[in-house]
Amino acid sequence: MRKKRVVITGGAGFIGSHMCERLLAEDFSVICLDNLVTGSEDNIRRLFGTKDFRFERRDVSLPIEIAGGVDYVLHCASLASPKDYLNLPIETLKAGSLGTYNSLGLARRKKAVFLLFSTSEIYGDPLVHPQREDYWGHVNPTGLRSCYDESKRFSEALTIAYHRIHKLDTKIVRIFNTYGPRMRRNDGRVVPNFIFSALNSRPLTVYGRGRQTRSFCYIDDLVEGLLRLMFSKINDPVNLGNPHEFTIIELARKILQITGSKSKVVFRRLPADDPRQRRPDIGKAGKLLSWKPTICLREGLERTIAWFKGN
Ligand code: UDP
Repeated sequence: MRKKRVVITGGAGFIGSHMCERLLAEDFSVICLDNLVTGSEDNIRRLFGTKDFRFERRDVSLPIEIAGGVDYVLHCASLASPKDYLNLPIETLKAGSLGTYNSLGLARRKKAVFLLFSTSEIYGDPLVHPQREDYWGHVNPTGLRSCYDESKRFSEALTIAYHRIHKLDTKIVRIFNTYGPRMRRNDGRVVPNFIFSALNSRPLTVYGRGRQTRSFCYIDDLVEGLLRLMFSKINDPVNLGNPHEFTIIELARKILQITGSKSKVVFRRLPADDPRQRRPDIGKAGKLLSWKPTICLREGLERTIAWFKGN
């Protein structure tokens, strides 16, 4: 009997590459598609010799043809860092709209299960806290972040329409801030920015007063949740993230403490539409997937810092 085959778009990115590794460990055959705009072959290089792994450099905003059977299509391709999507808003909109359309088309032709990697950004700058899946969000449709937020909102709408109209078995995960090894040191997100600065005796740049909150999930916890959702019967959106919430200034202090760095903290202008608070309500994932994060911030940061030191 042939192994179950998974096509993953954006498989050479941070989350995608961890997902590829885990799927191979679970005995799947993996086809990884990536146009390498923000992903990198370095993330998947160790998989290149593996029999059940294939990489194709492709832009998913163009139609996707794959020969043979496919059991799962995971649409992970996206420019997830604010710095990247502010620089490349049209590519971001294309990945979320055309990329989702083409990935859904592939899943439909192959009668595959489809998993959309959506985001907590669909809640925008939330007026409800913490965010539960039934909150509709507070998003500026033409703001600087709209290229990301609105394309992801569109991608959720398209995914659920394929479920309703074509009876495709679709799943939607709303991923909250996630961190770990393989984040690009210059991708602009707060964890790699602070770690890189702390390790290189540069000032840590806190935006605004640093009072905005986030909650960060370690990558291995997220991947476990993604797998459980893939194999579940759930078709409506599920939040995955770590509910431990703290301010950005607290994060800066924690990274300085763990690294033992003497770097200073400096304050910079808060970017437009930067959400003031964010924390997932993960009650649904707990109840339906028996999932909750197991790696605390300190342990996750220590592992991530160790990786940054070696890379
Ligand atoms: N941030 C910061 N300094 C940095 C990078 C980010 O203070 O060098 C802040 C940013 O304004 C936001 C939070 O950290 O409030 C998380 O930013 P990130 O880009 O990691 O992700 P977001 O949650 O905004 O998508």
